[in-house]
Amino acid sequence: MTGIYIHIPFCARKCPYCDFYSVSYRKSLAEDYVQAVIRNLHHYQISDSVDSIYFGGGTPSLLSVKQISEILETCSKNFKLASPEITLEYNLTRTDGNHLHELYQAGINRLSVGTQSFSDSQLNLLGRTHTAGQNLETIRNAEKAGFRNISCDLMLALPYQTEEILSETLDILISLPIQHVSAYLLQMEEHTPFYTNREILDNLPDDDVSADRYLQTVHTLEDAGFQQYEVSSFAKTGFESRHNLKYWFCEEYLGIGAGAHSCMKNRRFCIPRDADLFCKSPVQKEITIAENACDDEERLMLALRTARGVPESAFSTNARRKFPILIKNNYIRKNSENQICLTPEGFAVSNAVISMLLE
Ligand code: SF4
Repeated sequence: MTGIYIHIPFCARKCPYCDFYSVSYRKSLAEDYVQAVIRNLHHYQISDSVDSIYFGGGTPSLLSVKQISEILETCSKNFKLASPEITLEYNLTRTDGNHLHELYQAGINRLSVGTQSFSDSQLNLLGRTHTAGQNLETIRNAEKAGFRNISCDLMLALPYQTEEILSETLDILISLPIQHVSAYLLQMEEHTPFYTNREILDNLPDDDVSADRYLQTVHTLEDAGFQQYEVSSFAKTGFESRHNLKYWFCEEYLGIGAGAHSCMKNRRFCIPRDADLFCKSPVQKEITIAENACDDEERLMLALRTARGVPESAFSTNARRKFPILIKNNYIRKNSENQICLTPEGFAVSNAVISMLLE
């Protein structure tokens, strides 16, 4: 099964911590861009069935429902769709229920909402233009519109994010009609305003506090029935994101759009982060990242970021010698399927644990 990722790079306003590729929304550019997406969807042939279509960004919810429908119709004409999970990243540029209802009618069956926090002061610090109240209204409207697969984004390790502030956000989150949470630690990315903002830099939590907030999140979500299935993702049973899992299990996905990444037939490639170039080119320009991706070591490294884990036999003798100490320190464990996987404490320092195992 293959996934299709469609990158929609438009944002109403740039958030000061974000280094994803995005440009200001303009109606005429958006229309040209959608036509270029359609052109490129016609260009590629996929013999396998497609079980996931993901609109990521940027802010894909800035597109009109008609534009999203045109893209979906092109997918269904060109590819063999196998009851796909169709996700749209939804940022709160609007909260009206009618828009959500139209998106649901158009075929979007999974909504990934950029809530980030349910504290107004934290949203304000992040430069988000929505409030905690609008987050709530959007989730409730999405449920009323028919969505039964809703994910919320949550940001951790923020300046001034005390245990109590995070606890209030988590309590609200688990009371909502949602099935999935993606929780990310704030990363200080070069070339973003946060990177040189003295107030932000002076109030960033240290590694120990960041790990505490992460573990607080893992334990609260797990107690509420959201199982951790990879380092940043939690889901009620049966609601793990198909799209997400394709990255971790080296399955094929085709990325369309400026800045999109693909992995097809073990070849990884990306498209230049340039919306104008993407619109003007008859076919998107592929830049090869790796010709022989998904070798055994890469598969092992990626699978270790999931709760599914890896069979013991996949590790080198040297790595297996380190198991006792890592198990004793509660960084790795054997799961119910007898596979080696990281514990929440191991996920909190996953880069270090995985490097140790791959040394
Ligand atoms: S809305 Fe999302 S993609 Fe756009 S600037 Fe903010 S964080 Fe980045």
